[in-house]
Amino acid sequence: MSLTPKLPSNYSTVILDIEGTTTPISFVHDVMFPYVLNNIHKFLQTNWGQPDLEQCVADLIKQAETDKSNSVDGVVGIDPSAEKTVLQNQIINNVTWQMAQDRKIAALKNLQGLIWKDGFHNGSLKGIVYNDAFKAITTWKENGKSLYIYSSGSVAAQKLLFGHSNQGDMLENFSGHFDTTVGNKLEAESYVKISNDIGVDPKDILFVSDNLKEIKAAESIGMQVVVSVREGNAPILPKDEEKFFLCSDFTKLL
Ligand SMILES: [Mg+2]
Repeated sequence: MSLTPKLPSNYSTVILDIEGTTTPISFVHDVMFPYVLNNIHKFLQTNWGQPDLEQCVADLIKQAETDKSNSVDGVVGIDPSAEKTVLQNQIINNVTWQMAQDRKIAALKNLQGLIWKDGFHNGSLKGIVYNDAFKAITTWKENGKSLYIYSSGSVAAQKLLFGHSNQGDMLENFSGHFDTTVGNKLEAESYVKISNDIGVDPKDILFVSDNLKEIKAAESIGMQVVVSVREGNAPILPKDEEKFFLCSDFTKLL
């Protein structure tokens, strides 16, 4: 006979993942990435000459040169001596190529970050937070729990998403944010570090994520865990379903 996993209780602190947990797993690929491609042209025209953008452009040119000298397959070059409109088009083509390759290099990430920041600030880009996640977060907060985010997206990006969400500015609910600078989300050591950093015993922490590897890492150091079940998330194996508390409506955790 298998035991039904217990609803977590007696925790003082909640740590939430974002993608597949508070937010649709498709958000980055279906909203954030297309936003860059749809707005890069206007962004370059409007912000050309601004120091942040100039730095990104210099980094992209350097990266394109490195890619060329490494004979990277399909590399799209950027000629720094080209006239402004031509140069901007080369940057767009280079970024489009890099994004099609799903590259994670710093020069690209920094430019994406600038375009997202602009979009969140001007209101044309909004973070998506599920209604039940919003309700749970605000209720936990009202009930005196401390809330943290741990996501592979940078802390700056996390703050943009929750600061400019479809549920409004949610940032005041969180006591802190962690990204992969604290460590890989799949490694137990990262959860030890977070627990030490916030000064809370792991057994008093509830960690919620869609990723079973993250769940297992957090559980291995004694955290209470809940598996987030959302549309588009990876399927959960029956053996994990028996072991962990699954949740598709976070108000059920309250
Ligand atoms: Mg996730």
